[in-house]
Amino acid sequence: MSSRDRLRIAIQKSGRLSEASLDLLARCGLSFRRSRDKLFCFGESLPVDLLLVRDDDVPGMIADGVCDLGVVGRNVLSEQILGSGAGGQPAPFRELRSLGFGKCRLSVAVPDAFDYHDADQFSGMRIATTYPNLLADWLQRNDVSASVVNLSGSVEIAPRLGSADFICDLVSSGATLAANQLKEVAVVLESEAVLAAGAELPCDERGELIDMLLRRIDGVIQVRVSKLVMWHSPRSALESIQRLLPNGQQATVTPIEGLDNEVAVQAICNEAITWQHLEDMKRAGARQMLVLPLEQMLA
Ligand code: ATP
Ligand code: ZN
Repeated sequence: MSSRDRLRIAIQKSGRLSEASLDLLARCGLSFRRSRDKLFCFGESLPVDLLLVRDDDVPGMIADGVCDLGVVGRNVLSEQILGSGAGGQPAPFRELRSLGFGKCRLSVAVPDAFDYHDADQFSGMRIATTYPNLLADWLQRNDVSASVVNLSGSVEIAPRLGSADFICDLVSSGATLAANQLKEVAVVLESEAVLAAGAELPCDERGELIDMLLRRIDGVIQVRVSKLVMWHSPRSALESIQRLLPNGQQATVTPIEGLDNEVAVQAICNEAITWQHLEDMKRAGARQMLVLPLEQMLA
């Protein structure tokens, strides 16, 4: 491991993960000297610099010690982890956090007209993919022997060109598949952007920076879904109202001046609050309900 004193994070330079990765780091309080056209961005608020690279290069840069952390799709990371596993060596990187954006599936798709029932129908077929390790691993786990056709470019035209029977590719909306008269039939991997690191975290100042960043990331991810719920209610109704809150945490209960049996309550909920929740709470005696978004959170 190199003896840099500044932390380096690799993110995708331009693509589906770029904006959300930068946004996440900004919410964690990191700011960078702008040079989006270049490879390197100097961190101004903390000793944390950015490398802007192709997503496929992120794991390799971590493995080589060029950077300490990276934001990359689980699809890319897992493919390379499987690829590096030859010889029984432990993987050179790991997933530290799921980041909740860049969600997609690596799926097998077949021509629209194909009458699909189960994965046994893949036996003896040729499946085109840019994820040969993930596909081979999935086929093996499902005890299916199909041949994996490793392509480097767009795989969705392979069935029409006759170079494969089926494909295994990333899907989010399914629009690309539909445009190519294909349908998704089996999910090989559920993917989203992840924070990746080397197998061993540095134990110097960079390790402390990573710990701090992880705490901030946890806070950022948590506030995305959490809400502050406030209401007034009779003290006697408090317990039944609180039971209606989804994933609610310990509430703060405050007496209301001049109203003996009334309390003002505030509670954090770690799940989405729906109109149905509020209507149920109202029936149980809650009034003046407010649901507020959270800006920051540190446990
Ligand atoms: P690069 O130039 O960095 O190599 P790329 O073309 O390989 O870019 P993108 O298409 O920007 O990569 O996708 C980056 C990641 O976004 C994917 O690896 C995947 O994790 C995620 N992703 C989310 N939805 C989709 C989708 N519908 N198709 C492809 N990738 C998706
Ligand atoms: Zn790529």
